[in-house]
Amino acid sequence: MADKTLVCKDCGKEFIFTEGEQAFYKEKGFENEPLRCPECRKARKQQRRNNENRSFRK
Ligand SMILES: [Zn+2]
Repeated sequence: MADKTLVCKDCGKEFIFTEGEQAFYKEKGFENEPLRCPECRKARKQQRRNNENRSFRK
């Protein structure tokens, strides 16, 4: 296995899917490669959390 360069679906930037991450994905049984760079993944997580907070307060 070697590091792979993937293109983020959201921002179109290239990011590295490292050997270690590939091993992690395999171990977890994920068949798909990540579609987003770490920054976009983080941003989406944050956004989801914000949405949850909002609906919680209603
Ligand atoms: Zn991105």
